[in-house]
Amino acid sequence: MTDSWDQPGCYRVADGVFRIPLQMPQDGLRAINVYALETTHGLALVDGGWHRNSTHAELSDALALIGRSPAEIHDIYVTHVHRDHYTFAVELRRRHGSRIHLGAAESPGIAAITKLGNNVPESSILQLHRSGAVTIAEQVYRDSVDEPFEPSDWEAPDHWLSPGALDIPGHRFFAVHTPGHTKGHMVFHDLERDVSFTGDHVLPTITPSIGFELGDWELPLGAYLRSLEMMLDDRDRIMMPAHGGTGASLHARCRELLAHHAYRLNQTASAVVELREASGLQVAQVLTWTRRERGFDSLDTFNQMVATCETLAHLDVLVDRGQLSVQNKNGVDLFSSN
Ligand SMILES: [Zn+2]
Repeated sequence: MTDSWDQPGCYRVADGVFRIPLQMPQDGLRAINVYALETTHGLALVDGGWHRNSTHAELSDALALIGRSPAEIHDIYVTHVHRDHYTFAVELRRRHGSRIHLGAAESPGIAAITKLGNNVPESSILQLHRSGAVTIAEQVYRDSVDEPFEPSDWEAPDHWLSPGALDIPGHRFFAVHTPGHTKGHMVFHDLERDVSFTGDHVLPTITPSIGFELGDWELPLGAYLRSLEMMLDDRDRIMMPAHGGTGASLHARCRELLAHHAYRLNQTASAVVELREASGLQVAQVLTWTRRERGFDSLDTFNQMVATCETLAHLDVLVDRGQLSVQNKNGVDLFSSN
């Protein structure tokens, strides 16, 4: 694993499997890995990439390095509905007739995005109100209506995936439903090579955001923690993540993420004890953020939203576990310890 995983190219990561990092704008994520698989009659992709003007040329240049072209892509297996994974799959279908496969539980997400016609993260805004973070909610709303949005980037897939074997010619793949990052996120295990395409469910260096999508969620963090534990019930495999280099042990990284959330749950519970009664925003403001332990006020609005929603997700799990109580006052949830 190197720090320069995002350098353009086409990297052989297993027999007949190539990692292709496609550049991302603005985002701290730097690039999105799509994986090209050689099949008996062409290529299959895991994840589609972010549809931008330059994406087709970028992918063509990368595939040319192994004597291939995007026209050979017959199927695309997308781990989840987020823009950087899904939208270029739609463009590849338009140009080359590739079939798109997406987890069945992403269907409400697709419906909500196409109906809304903008980038406003509606459910996150509701969570911000529930956290007492009205100013942040208003700012996030203003920022996101201004963002460019192309509703035609999202269209329904050809096939909604259920957990189970995938019919990729010449391969033995198995899809597992891993809700948490989104409702219908899927991880694809390659049973022959013992590698796992983990999408954004398990990333090597960052903690994936939880439940950042449209539509209502019942305890997204609870679902996420169960989806991490589920990875440990199966054999260990080498990670092929959507952001970052390949090669880490899936089990080792799942254990780190579980430990991280256990630690954050403890910190969150202690903060509520100290504050006696507190909203999600008030708890988020006394916790520290990012690996650099930054204060809440030093984050930009988008990351204040992420931090507040993340805090609320931890508070909800603590209520579910019986460690905290919650009372709604004027639309704001106030948490106290039992
Ligand atoms: Zn994502």
